[in-house]
This record gives sequence, structure tokens and C-alpha cells, in this order.
Amino acid sequence: MPPTGPIDCDLHPVVPGLKALLPYLDDHWRETVVRRGIEDLTTISYPSRNPLSFRAEWRDDSGRTGMDAATLTKQALDPLGTRLAILNCLYGVQAQFSEDLGVALTRALNDWIVKEWLDRDPRLRASIVVPMQNTEIAVEEIERCASDHRFVQVMLLVGSDVTLGRRQNWPIYAAAERHGLPVGIHAGSMYRHPMTPVGWPTTFTEEYVNQATAFQSQLSSLIAEGVFAKFPDLTVVLMESGVSWLPAYLWRFTKFWKGVRSEIPWVSDPPPSIVRDRVRLTLQPFDAPPDAESVMRLIDHMGSDEMILFSTDYPHWQYDGSDPLPAGLDKALCTKIMEDNPLRTYVRLREREVVA
Ligand code: ZN
Repeated sequence: MPPTGPIDCDLHPVVPGLKALLPYLDDHWRETVVRRGIEDLTTISYPSRNPLSFRAEWRDDSGRTGMDAATLTKQALDPLGTRLAILNCLYGVQAQFSEDLGVALTRALNDWIVKEWLDRDPRLRASIVVPMQNTEIAVEEIERCASDHRFVQVMLLVGSDVTLGRRQNWPIYAAAERHGLPVGIHAGSMYRHPMTPVGWPTTFTEEYVNQATAFQSQLSSLIAEGVFAKFPDLTVVLMESGVSWLPAYLWRFTKFWKGVRSEIPWVSDPPPSIVRDRVRLTLQPFDAPPDAESVMRLIDHMGSDEMILFSTDYPHWQYDGSDPLPAGLDKALCTKIMEDNPLRTYVRLREREVVA
């Protein structure tokens, strides 16, 4: 592993099809999947022919890419000299209505990530995918995977069944905190509810743009329900949420917190200071003008230059050209975003000896 270099906090290994997970399912579920003829899990968040789903120059003959560790590292890590990369696998396992099927697929997915990805390149790390259908089985999966320190985070989807701050989810945060794992909330959904709060959208465009409003709802829930007060060592990373919505959202939240905070006395600090200390956001898709002046103004409004974590969002097509960083940032800030902030956020990335 190179001693310095960018740390990419959001990349997506692509599952080639359910067949790839068959060796990782037990006999019962392997037979069930084959007998039912389930060939793939539909991930409508990222239809493969959508331009956003895969950068054009990386697509292979199937129209996709990123389906094995060699391809991902060659396309996403080598060109940037990336030191470490955190894989967040999005594969529709959380959308299953059967808790039993959901947990079987999730276990297979995490084991597949270990064997086919983490074991193949020492630069790779991953988030634990959890079956969000049920808190108890989610905690069991965290406990099962956490002893492998190449898992550096617990991943949830922003489109949950119940708002993430609710007490029924707290055992997940307790488990994450116990193991020194941030909770990363990624764009995507269990599809129990529309991505908008006002009904189902008809287009991918609406669906994707509205992910940012779902992130706002979840952040409000986590703050107001008292998750940050209850779990003082927990860090939350918003992944693929965009960044530029945050300052205006915090202005609004703070205004009403000042007026009605007697309702939530456990939120004793102003929301911006809670977020500044406990919440991080991955860089891509960067939803502001990608120039230094705009970035500096945004950071000024956020109140901290420690909140943005470098990410490419590979293999998604989120920026033009070959540089995921906005142009013209000074060197010190680049180092913060690409190296210091990720290292400060993810305790396990700082370990010299990684327990596999
Ligand atoms: Zn992503």
C-alpha cells in the first residue's frame, strides 16, 4: 500500500448477476434462487443503460463495468494513485420483502465482497451491507463482519422503511459505535416509499434529484430523535448526497430549532455544530460550480473544511474529464479532502496492521 495518496470513500463494485453470489449462499437459498429462476436483483436506482450509471469510456461490451477487482482498480485506483478505496455495494438486497431472503442475500454479498474484492487487492476496504428489513438481523450481520477490519463502515440506504433516527434503529448505531465504524448513508432505496415526500416520480431524473431531499429528511430525523446525543462517538457519512444543499438546510433547521427546541431538549447544541462535528459528506456528485471560488464559499458556509471526503463514485459518471476534484483548489485543502479528512473519519483506515 502506498504511504500517501488519495483515499476514495465511495466506489461501487458491480455484481455481475445473482449467479455470482450462488457459491456464497447456503444449500437452501441456492436451491431456492435457482428453482425460482431469480437471475438478478433489479436495482432501479441505477439502470445500466442510463448514462449516469457507468462512465462511457469504461463500459465493456455488456455496457457495464466494475464487475471484478482488477477492472475497478485499473480504472479507478491506478490513474489517481489511490492509496485506499472504500467499496459500497448497491445490489437491491435491502429491497426484498422477505426478511429471510434479505438476510441470506446480504450475507452472501458481504462474503462475496471479502473473497472477490478485499482478498484480491490490499488497497480495497468495504462497508458492511446490512439487511435493513429488520434491526435485529442488521445487528447480527454487523457483528458477523466487524471482526474483519477491512470493513470500515456500516452502510444504510437513504430510502429506508422508517426514518433512520427512530429508536428501533438505535441498536444498529450502538453496534457501529462499539466497533468504531461510522454509519454511511448512501443514495438508494428499499422502495417502501417514494423518494419524494409527495408521491412517486415518473422519471429517473426526478428520482435522482430528489435523493437530496431524502438525505435532508434523514439528517433531520437523526438530529431531532437524539441519535447524536445518545451515541457520542458515532460519525455519520452522507454518501452521494450532493453537498451544496447543506448550508441552506442548516439555516432553516437552526431557525426553527431556536423557536421550538423545548420539544427536543436533548438537542442542546445548535444543529450546525452537531453536523460540523459528527457528519461528513462524500465529494461526488459535486452539485456546485466546480471551481475553487465556489468551493471555498461553500466550505465557508458549511463552517468547516473537514467535512468533505474525497470520492469518485466509480463507475458512475459524475464529472467531466479525469479529475474528480474541482479545479484550482490549493494544495493544503486538496490534501485535507483526499487524505486527512478520510483518515480522521475512518478509525480503521489508520490501523497499521489490518485484522482480516
Ligand atoms: Zn456512490
